[in-house]
Amino acid sequence: MDSNYTVLARKYRSQDFASLIGQDVLVKTLTTAINTGRIAHAYIFTGIRGTGKTSTARILAKALNCLSTDGPTATPCGVCENCRAIAAGQHIDVMEIDAASHTGVDNMREILDAVQYRPTNGRYKIYIIDEVHMLSISAFNALLKTLEEPPAHVVFILATTDIRKVPVTILSRCQRFDLVRVPVETLKKHFAKIAENEKIELTDAANELLARAADGSVRDGLSLLDQAIAQTGGHVDEASVLNMLKRADRGVVMGLMETILSGDTALALERVDEIYNNGADLSMLLTDMMEWTHWATRMHPALHAGDCASAPYTADQRTKIRNINANITLNTLSRLWQVMVASVPEMQATGNQKQCFDMLVVRMMHIAEMPSVAEILKKQPTAAKPQPVPQSAPKKVAIASATDLASALQADKEILLYSYYTTNIEVLDFENGKIVYFDRGNDTDFAKKLTSWLNAKTGQIWTLQQDDSSKHAQTVTEKKNEELAADPMIADAMNLFEDAEIVNSTK
Ligand SMILES: [Zn+2]
Repeated sequence: MDSNYTVLARKYRSQDFASLIGQDVLVKTLTTAINTGRIAHAYIFTGIRGTGKTSTARILAKALNCLSTDGPTATPCGVCENCRAIAAGQHIDVMEIDAASHTGVDNMREILDAVQYRPTNGRYKIYIIDEVHMLSISAFNALLKTLEEPPAHVVFILATTDIRKVPVTILSRCQRFDLVRVPVETLKKHFAKIAENEKIELTDAANELLARAADGSVRDGLSLLDQAIAQTGGHVDEASVLNMLKRADRGVVMGLMETILSGDTALALERVDEIYNNGADLSMLLTDMMEWTHWATRMHPALHAGDCASAPYTADQRTKIRNINANITLNTLSRLWQVMVASVPEMQATGNQKQCFDMLVVRMMHIAEMPSVAEILKKQPTAAKPQPVPQSAPKKVAIASATDLASALQADKEILLYSYYTTNIEVLDFENGKIVYFDRGNDTDFAKKLTSWLNAKTGQIWTLQQDDSSKHAQTVTEKKNEELAADPMIADAMNLFEDAEIVNSTK
């Protein structure tokens, strides 16, 4: 590769709103606002890495300071002195600050001290603060003071990958834009166009794999394409990309499912580590596991589903699935499917896919070990021996906190309610008999189901009050994930498994 090679992500960085990839809603709203002269004093862009937050910030800065018109324009020229300086990150009135390296209050005050002075070359003085969630509390307070009374010539553009860590006081002063994951089809079109431009051979299958692996991020996708071009000398086909991505093949997926169903937690988590360390995309792995579960269900002897000829497995793999199926019920497969489906949005929303995936595996194993209602009923007669059963009397439990509630639901095998509650519900206030919450999933049945369970379980009347706007509170899962970051994973896994032991001891 010659030394003048510019990485694709930089070479093809969007320079105007029209070329911003996959952010149609944002582009429409922002251009309308600029065209009608409604310029806010502060914007916040949020979204996963590589969706164009910084590019959008720079385009907006150009739009505000472009010299081709008398005022802000939604179509900055890109060639005037201001446009060129901003694109190069060298404009005197456009300050780009990386919050990760300026977290302290002194840093922030120093930067904000200059706010009062009028811009030198532009109409606006623009502060672009990247990864703003990294600021310290005191730095946030200093920023808030300026945001409360911003001089007319100042515009703040904040960007973050983790909006939940930005104080609500700051958010309430900003116009918020969510940059979405760029869809696979949009990425494919973008990559195909670039390949053509660069005179690179990129097969459709290879493009598809790259676009999926990019996981919604234009930048990640383009660095993969860079890498593929470097490794293949410009002939990018499916085999080379598969090899490069080290994507788990079907045999590996099968092995993982077998381990999960065998109940060996330590080994299952070890296998996940291995697959992850080999560079597999965990969302893709989840999709592959769901595919496996779907076919195992169709091939299950209890279902008599008939033709499974189109299942994507070899004869050996089919025999293996039949052997596994002999030891599990349809019910188990169906419950596994449900937890996996519930994890899809969780995997997309969470900042740490690996933690989320580990938790999913632990949850799946927990479910695989749980007897179904039918199995419990079948086992009932054998328990006729006279033995003390202290747990059998309906025991009223006390539930004192949001986390307590999660544990109680889990202990009571209310897995669906548990998983919905822990992933979608922001508990805003919890007192005995009353819960105020925000429901990210907006499930109209949730309150009804949880209330009747709570009433029955605790022997008292509960009131659930739904708040209609998010206060950016954490869900139980998010809280747990944060704790997990500090504590070793295994400890938590073992905790969950104590419950599984109790289930088995009822045999
Ligand atoms: Zn211009």
